[in-house]
Amino acid sequence: MSTFSAPKGTYDLIPPDSAAFLAVREALAAPLRRAGYGYVETPGFEHVELFSRGVGESTDIVTKEMYTLTTKGGTRLALRPEGTASVLRAALQANLHRAGNLPVKLWYSGTYYRYERPQAGRYRHFSQVGAEAIGAEDPVLDAELIILAADAYSSLGLRGVRLLLNSLGDRECRPAYRAALQEFLRGLDLDEETRARIEINPLRVLDDKRESVQRQLTGAPMMRDHLCEACKEYHERVRELIAGAGVAFTDDEKLVRGLDYYTRTTFEFVHDGLGSQSAVGGGGRYDGLSEMIGGPPLPSVGWALGVDRTLLALRAEEVAPGAPASADVFAVPLGEDARRALFTLVTALRRAGVAADFAFGGRGVKSAMKSANRSGARFAVVAGDRDLAEGVVQVKDLASGEQAPVPLVDAVEELRRRVAGSSPTG
Ligand code: AMP
Repeated sequence: MSTFSAPKGTYDLIPPDSAAFLAVREALAAPLRRAGYGYVETPGFEHVELFSRGVGESTDIVTKEMYTLTTKGGTRLALRPEGTASVLRAALQANLHRAGNLPVKLWYSGTYYRYERPQAGRYRHFSQVGAEAIGAEDPVLDAELIILAADAYSSLGLRGVRLLLNSLGDRECRPAYRAALQEFLRGLDLDEETRARIEINPLRVLDDKRESVQRQLTGAPMMRDHLCEACKEYHERVRELIAGAGVAFTDDEKLVRGLDYYTRTTFEFVHDGLGSQSAVGGGGRYDGLSEMIGGPPLPSVGWALGVDRTLLALRAEEVAPGAPASADVFAVPLGEDARRALFTLVTALRRAGVAADFAFGGRGVKSAMKSANRSGARFAVVAGDRDLAEGVVQVKDLASGEQAPVPLVDAVEELRRRVAGSSPTG
């Protein structure tokens, strides 16, 4: 124990959990790569105004949860609380939308920062894998993203992820709905903060988790009944397409999400094994965001999936995300000459693409074999002076216990073949 520990609301990723974390992040991103999304990486901090304008002045994220700082030069910056505004900013700045090939499809993975009250599944530093499809209004695109996220979860073996779906309307129909909702909400018995919210972003009141608020919302006007024809039709197409792909969903007319920029399609993936922080991912269409941050009209859709919470969901279901062995081959040298020979072999194996590790520290054979077993390797390569004199190493299958000599000159090829032949590690 040192004098220091990680700041409140954060945690260190350390082996063996870190391997599962990487496997989850990889699994969430893999479907995007196959679907033509290009990787984008943006800075960990941005100008504060990008988020206050992009995410919304009335959101908790902007009013309460941003880590802001003023540089020595007087610039106001914020640690990124989410990815969409930054990714859209980067795409606009690089003029990706002008290249003529819309939509611009991008994916990203990174850490995000929110000054939230820490609890199980809610951290101040967390990780997301995200995707944005910029510059096209097409229900097929909304469906594509939703299906890719659903496929990512199921590729991990998760069974308990549920998809909630809603439409928030557009600039045609939302204003009239907003006014009707405001009128309804003003008649309720609500605290001052919630009353203020009615005037700034009334839809978010629908999302209030408190029982005392939810009880009063019975009979509130719902967006579904106020959608214009175009939004209704658009939403119906999205629903048909995802149902056609075999992705189950529940219509949730109260799903508004905590960010201001959403229009039309909104969705959330939830998992019931996570307690109150049940959202493992979410997203939606944000047709007005580009203009809000000074860009041209670029209707877009995207999502962000929480890596930390997906890992918690896997634990809740007791699914191991293909926890990869740290090595396929573990070298156990007996004596100084063998140390040299096997270290050369380990280096050659790694260069040939085989994960290999070595019994460091000149320990006895018993403790070295223990390390070999702990590493999860399938083969141990053992050699002593006598083996080397005969030009062989002993290859031991750690599962079956079988052992046989293999000529040292053939060892790389032989092990590569055997490792590829048995079930590969990650
Ligand atoms: P949001 O950007 O709020 O839509 O969040 C997208 C996903 O990121 C959520 O569904 C969560 O899985 C994850 N997430 C958001 N905030 C946190 C947090 N404070 N701690 C852990 N995961 C989070």
